[in-house]
Amino acid sequence: MNSKKKIDLLDEKLVNFNKNNWAIKLHSTEGWGEQAPCPVRFTVNPYLGCEFKCPYCYVWSDKEKTGIKPGFRESLKKGIESAKKLNLEDYVVEVSASTDPFQYIEKDKGEALYSIQRVLDAGFKVLLVTKNPSFLLEKKYLTILQNKNIFIDVTITSLKEGTPKGSILNNKGPSAKEKIRIISKLISMGKDIRVKIEPVIPTTGDIIGQSKKDLEELVEELAKIGVKRIIAKTLRVNAWMPEYIKKNLVTFYKDNGQLIEGNYVLNKDLRKKLLTPIYFSCKRNNITFCGCVDADVFEGIKDIVPCTISGETLKKIRTLNETMHGCPSC
Ligand code: SF4
Repeated sequence: MNSKKKIDLLDEKLVNFNKNNWAIKLHSTEGWGEQAPCPVRFTVNPYLGCEFKCPYCYVWSDKEKTGIKPGFRESLKKGIESAKKLNLEDYVVEVSASTDPFQYIEKDKGEALYSIQRVLDAGFKVLLVTKNPSFLLEKKYLTILQNKNIFIDVTITSLKEGTPKGSILNNKGPSAKEKIRIISKLISMGKDIRVKIEPVIPTTGDIIGQSKKDLEELVEELAKIGVKRIIAKTLRVNAWMPEYIKKNLVTFYKDNGQLIEGNYVLNKDLRKKLLTPIYFSCKRNNITFCGCVDADVFEGIKDIVPCTISGETLKKIRTLNETMHGCPSC
C-alpha cells in the first residue's frame, strides 16, 4: 500500500495533527499487519528508554539510560491545546504505549503524573498501561485513580515472572506476585483493571516461553482476584531487539512465520496454539478475552472482544508512516 493511500484511511485533521505534534501523537499499529483491529488512539510517552529492560523488548536496547525528553511538557501543552481546537477529545490517550510510565525515574521526575493530569483535565479518557501499578497507591496518584476517565491495564506475562524460573520473562520491574497483590487492592477499591498477558513467547532453543500450564495458572489466579478482561498477543520479532533474542528467534520465526512490515510474525497455527490456553481459561472463568493484533487467529469465534474501553471510538487505526510503534507488552 502506498503512503498516500495509507493516509487517506484516516481523517485528514488527525493526520495533520500528527504531523505537527510530537509529545502527543497517533498510536500506530504500523508493522502489526493490515488486520490489526485496534481503535484510533493518541499516545503520550513521557520517557526515553525503559528501566525495566524486559529481555524481549527493543525500547531499551539502544539506550542504556532512561531519561526525560527536553521540552516535553511545553510540547504536550501545545499538543493538547491544538487537539482541543480540532475537537479531538473523543479519542483515548494511551499513557504510555512505548515505554513504561511508572519506571523508577517517575519518583523523581513525575513526567507520567504530569501527563495524566494534563490529559484528564483537557477532557480526554486516559488508558494507562504499566508493569508497575504500585505507584497508583501512593498519595499523589490516588486523585487520578478516582477520576472516572482513567482506565488501567497491567501487563503480566507469567506467574514465573520475577522468580528464578522466569527466564526470558524476568525484568527489573516488580514480580508477577507483587503486581497481582496490587491489582487485587485496586479492584477492591472499585477499579476495573484489565490484564495484558503479553508477549506470549514460543519455546525454542535457549528460549523458554510460557507453557500451556503457565498460562492457565496465571488466568486462574487473575480470576480469583476479580479480573474481568484479559488481552493477549504473541511476540513479534524485529531488528531493534536485543542480540540474544535475534540470535535465538529470527531463524525460528523465518521458518514458522513471515515478515510483515519489519516484524517477523508467527504463522496463524502457531499463534493460535500459543494463545488458545488463555482463551479457554478465560471462558472457564467468565473473563472476556481480546486477541489484540492476533485476533485474526480466532476469526469466526463470536466471544472475542476488542480492546476498546467504554465510550471509545470504534474507528480503526491503520498504518501511517509518521507515527510511533508500540512496545511488545506495554
Ligand atoms: S516491554 Fe515495556 S516495561 Fe518492558 S522494557 Fe519494554 S517498555 Fe519497558
